[in-house]
Amino acid sequence: MNYDVIIIGAGPGGIFATYELLQHKPDLKIAVFEAGHELSKRHCPIDGDKIKSCIKCKSCSIMSGFGGAGAFSDGKYNITNDFGGTLYEYIGKKPALDLMHYVDDINLKFGGEGTKLYSTAGTRFKTLCIQHDLHLLDASVRHLGTDINYIVLENIYKYLKDKADFFFDTPVEAIKIIAGGYGVKCKDKLYSCYKCIVSVGRSGSKWMEQVCRDLDIPTSSNRVDIGVRVELPASVFAHLTDELYESKIVYRTEKYGDKVRTFCMNPKGAVVNENTNGIITVNGHSYEDPAKQTENTNFALLVAQHLSEPFKDSNGYGESIARLSNMLGGGVLVQRFGDLIRGRRSTPGRMNDAFITPTLNATPGDLSLVLPKRILDAIIDMIYALDKVAPGTANDDTLLYGVEVKFYNMEVKVNKQLETCYPGLYIIGDGSGITHSLSHASASGVYVARDIAN
Ligand SMILES: Cc1cc2nc3c(=O)[nH]c(=O)nc-3n(C[C@H](O)[C@H](O)[C@H](O)COP(=O)(O)OP(=O)(O)OC[C@H]3O[C@@H](n4cnc5c(N)ncnc54)[C@H](O)[C@@H]3O)c2cc1C
Repeated sequence: MNYDVIIIGAGPGGIFATYELLQHKPDLKIAVFEAGHELSKRHCPIDGDKIKSCIKCKSCSIMSGFGGAGAFSDGKYNITNDFGGTLYEYIGKKPALDLMHYVDDINLKFGGEGTKLYSTAGTRFKTLCIQHDLHLLDASVRHLGTDINYIVLENIYKYLKDKADFFFDTPVEAIKIIAGGYGVKCKDKLYSCYKCIVSVGRSGSKWMEQVCRDLDIPTSSNRVDIGVRVELPASVFAHLTDELYESKIVYRTEKYGDKVRTFCMNPKGAVVNENTNGIITVNGHSYEDPAKQTENTNFALLVAQHLSEPFKDSNGYGESIARLSNMLGGGVLVQRFGDLIRGRRSTPGRMNDAFITPTLNATPGDLSLVLPKRILDAIIDMIYALDKVAPGTANDDTLLYGVEVKFYNMEVKVNKQLETCYPGLYIIGDGSGITHSLSHASASGVYVARDIAN
C-alpha cells in the first residue's frame, strides 16, 4: 500500500482527522487529497472594484482548499447538539459535546486563545423570546472571527505539513475497492491505502453521490433550507449579539406551521456571495478585529423544507430557486423590507435613499418573483415576530438578500463508527449529511481518527 490512511478533503473534517491520527500514531503514513488550493493560494477574485461578482473560478477559493468551506468563514464554533448536525445520533450526546470541546481546545492552542466563548446559559433573552412565541436554542459559541480562524488554520497547516503528504489541486476522481483496502484515483494515478476517510463537504456533494452510486452505498435524501440574508444596523440586534454573539431563534408560522430560524448571525459583519456548483447564493461573515468591522449586522432567515415521496431532489429544488434569482439579478438580489411589503421592486434609486449602506453589491430587485409564497410568507412573519424582541427589525430599510440556500448533502448510510458497509471506508463531515457545521465536522474527524488508531 502507498499509505496507511488516505483522507479526501482538507476541510475541518479532514484536518482534524489528520491531526488526531498523528496524535495517536505519529508513524502512520497519511496522505490528504484536496481539490482546492493550499491556504496561502486561496484568493477570491471579487475585489468589489474591477471584479464585482462571481466569475465562477474552476476551483472556488471560498469553498475549496486547505480549511475547506470554513476557511474564510466567521469561525463560529457552536458547541451544542441542538443544531449544526446530528452527530450525537451516532455517537451519543455527551461524547459529541466532549469532542466539540476537544476541538475548541485545539483551536485555542493553535492561535485562538483570547477569543470569546459566548453562552446562552442563564440568559434573560430566553424568557423575552418565549413571551413572543420565539424559541432561543441552547449553545456555547466560540467566535474566532474570520481573521483569527485563518491564523489557526495557518498554524495547524504548519504543524501538519511535514507529518502527512498533502496533495493540493488534486481532486479525487473515484474510489476503487482493491485487495485489503482502497484505491484513490486522481490525475490518472491510483494511490492505495488500508483505510480511507472521505470528508468532501458540501462542494463535494455531487461527487459523493456518484461514489455512493458506484459503490452501492445506501443514501437517503435530505432537506434543504431556503430563505434570505437580513442586514440591518448593528444597533438593532446589539442587546442580543453583545451578550450571546449568535442567537439561534426558531419560530413556527401560524398559517403553515413551518419552522423559520435565524442562522449564522454576524454582528458588525459583511454579506458575501457564495458559489455552490456554479449558482450564486448569499452568506455572511464578520471579523474579530474592530478595524474590519462594519456598522451592520447580518443573519439568515431560513425555512426548512422537507420534501416527501415521490420527490427526492431537495437540493435540486433549492438550486432552481437560487437560479431564478441569478436569472433576474445576474447574481444575488437585494430588496428593502418596505418595498417587499408594498409589493414593489427595490430600484437603485430607492436603495440610494435608504438609511443603510449595503455591505454587498447586489442587484436591487423583487424577491417575491423568486421565492415561493409559502417561504416568503414565513420570512415576513418571522421578521414581524423578531421586531418584538429587537425593535427595528421590520423597518422599511432592513435589507433582504436572496436567496440564501443551505444545501444539505444526502445522508450516507454509515454505522456508529461512521464507517460505510465497506470496512475501513469512513464518510465524515458535511459530505456525510450528518454534520452541517465547523464544530460537528471537526468532531467527526477526531472521532474516526480515534477509531482507526484504536
Ligand atoms: C461562507 C461560509 C461561512 C460559514 N460559516 C460558518 C460558521 O461560522 N460556523 C459554522 O459552524 N459553519 C460555517 N460554515 C459551514 C462550515 O464551513 C462547514 O460546515 C464545514 O466547513 C464543513 O467541514 P467539512 O470538512 O465537512 O467540509 P468542507 O469544509 O466543505 O471541506 C471539504 C473539502 O473537500 C474538498 N473536496 C471536495 N470534493 C473533493 C474531491 N473529489 N477530491 C478532493 N477534495 C475534494 C473541498 O475542496 C473542500 O476543501 C460556513 C460555510 C461558508 C461557505
